[in-house]
Amino acid sequence: MNNSQPTATVSLTPLDEADLESPLSYSALSWCFLAYGVAIVLAIPFFSQAAFTVAAFCHLVFGGAITLGMHRYFSHDTFQAPRWLRFYLALTYTLSFDRCGQGLISWAAAHKFHHAHSDRELDPHSPEFGYWHSFCGHHLFRRKDLYDFDKYSRYCPELVSDPMLVWFDRQRNIWGLQIVFASLMFGAGGLWGAAALGFDWWMATSFLVWGIFVRYAFTQTLHSILDTLGHGTAPMHKLPDTYGTNTRSKNCLLMWPFHLGNEMWHNVHHAFPNHANNGGRWYRWDVDSLAMKTLETVGIIKGCKWLTESDLERRRKRTAEKRESLPAR
Ligand SMILES: [Zn+2]
Ligand SMILES: [Zn+2]
Repeated sequence: MNNSQPTATVSLTPLDEADLESPLSYSALSWCFLAYGVAIVLAIPFFSQAAFTVAAFCHLVFGGAITLGMHRYFSHDTFQAPRWLRFYLALTYTLSFDRCGQGLISWAAAHKFHHAHSDRELDPHSPEFGYWHSFCGHHLFRRKDLYDFDKYSRYCPELVSDPMLVWFDRQRNIWGLQIVFASLMFGAGGLWGAAALGFDWWMATSFLVWGIFVRYAFTQTLHSILDTLGHGTAPMHKLPDTYGTNTRSKNCLLMWPFHLGNEMWHNVHHAFPNHANNGGRWYRWDVDSLAMKTLETVGIIKGCKWLTESDLERRRKRTAEKRESLPAR
């Protein structure tokens, strides 16, 4: 049932200064121009209800692959999954092309740094170092130790030990899968719009524009905004560090309707990173937690650790007491 190795303790420190260099990635920049350019210029001329529905469906599936799959499962080992579900999450995350096609092991390595060094020098995407850096800069200017397999593989031995995940992490496979997926999207649109055995080129283009480029631009923008708001970009900067994480992480309700609650309770997540639910109170629910609860109830996944209201209350009280005991400045 469980395909993960136990999470090993690894040193989350780059080997030398050169590892922290972040050269511009021309492939990431080209993809960004292509995806956002196509979305801006062609979305309206090639709008169709069918393509819009496909794009909305892909947004839900791929968004879930990033938050539930990449974040909670692969990065935090939040639950144990059967092989078929592990494959599904790896495939859909890879098709999401998150962060201009960052491989899943590279993503997990970056996220380990994010938790170990939150909002400090080694955090790869804190808004502490600028809004644009957090929003998209770290996708485009790629830190060597987080984008060179030979370097980041040592940060994630539990993922590298699975050859399937290493395959999904390879750049040629990520780009290859995206080209196959885009071709299938184009073909499906052409067949959908055609009568009998014909091919509708306009509808094929509509599916390609909406299913690949508009969908990517929308999902990526949403996640990038969330990354910045969740770590204290204005107007969230005044919210307190309720659970004493010593980070800029915030519980950020602002994006709830767009993100269905996922990743909203980021201050709680930094306090309890390996728990399945990030809210811990009855009114702080999110779709990923509901999905995990359902999958656990029907026996597909196991090993979820559920955060309770009393866990949260204990932590909140301890944080408040610690603050009171500090000498007044
Ligand atoms: Zn964070
Ligand atoms: Zn996390």
